[in-house]
Amino acid sequence: YAKSQGRNQVQYYTAALNMHSFKHFALSNDLRKALAKDELFIQYMPRVQAQTTEILGVEALVRWNHPDWGLVSPAEFVPIAEETGLIIPIGEWVLREACKQNKRWQDMGFTSMTVSVNFSVKQLLQQNILQTIDRIVEETGLSPEYLEIEITESSFISNEKEVIHLLDELKKRKIKVSLDDFGTGFSSLYLLKQLSLDTIKIDKSFVEEILTNPVNKSIIECILSLAKAMNMNVVAEGVETAEQYAFLKSKECDEIQGYYFSRPLDIKDLEALLKSKQMNTQLAIRNQAKIV
Ligand code: C2E
Ligand code: MG
Ligand code: MG
Ligand code: MG
Repeated sequence: YAKSQGRNQVQYYTAALNMHSFKHFALSNDLRKALAKDELFIQYMPRVQAQTTEILGVEALVRWNHPDWGLVSPAEFVPIAEETGLIIPIGEWVLREACKQNKRWQDMGFTSMTVSVNFSVKQLLQQNILQTIDRIVEETGLSPEYLEIEITESSFISNEKEVIHLLDELKKRKIKVSLDDFGTGFSSLYLLKQLSLDTIKIDKSFVEEILTNPVNKSIIECILSLAKAMNMNVVAEGVETAEQYAFLKSKECDEIQGYYFSRPLDIKDLEALLKSKQMNTQLAIRNQAKIV
């Protein structure tokens, strides 16, 4: 009995593996045509100032609406895009769309929002990446200070010199740079000091356990004081509860990104949110005026 049970387990496991590799194979095949078929789209996730909850910017997050598999998460298809090299055209498309969209928002009156765009290592290390960025910024007419590029610690492994140089060039252009998923990689403090970074984004795995794991509290406090000393902004990612928000606010974390404030939104939904926030601010100003 035990033996057959064991074999079933193995069969089940093999089937699951096959299913996984089948999907992986199918996705990597279809991803080639996804851009041309208009199956990719972008959602925008608000980043709010911790003290005032004002929306300071949005992060562009790519999505894939697959005709058979439905909505495929970027956690699943971005690695495939990296393996196949498709991250280059896809990344360029995301950058262009995000800049174009932010310019539109500025023209609509939402004037000081930054849009941040995730960059994979492969993208970052392309020969002509600066020309590509310059061309897109120029084409879309977005002021470079309203663009932020998010990189991860894995970008520097064995490419320190290139990345340091690239970040310096971006700084000259006033384009902002943030270090995403901070704490999950292996960057040294020595390297961190050499990089022209504007912002550190604390990975959500630390935020998740703020209230249950005292070590995480200390790690976050430590990152916050380090960032302050180095004159960098800190964003806490993955904030889902009032308690997590209260802790981060009390520790003077600069910005919050998480479901507690908003999920990633379609363009129309984000615009509705921006308009309602604008209304609230106007009301607040009017009420203040009345009191005085
Ligand atoms: P990321 O850059 O760290 O983006 C944050 C991810 O955390 C997003 O997942 C977001 O929806 C999720 N998140 C934020 N706050 C919360 C929260 O409070 N609770 C929970 N459960 N999740 C939260 P998403 O959109 O699935 O993206 C996953 C990853 O895919 C991104 O992580 C990024 O590494 C990658 N990615 C997304 N778009 C692009 C892109 O255009 N280019 C590249 N290269 N990578 C991208
Ligand atoms: Mg990111
Ligand atoms: Mg992150
Ligand atoms: Mg990431």
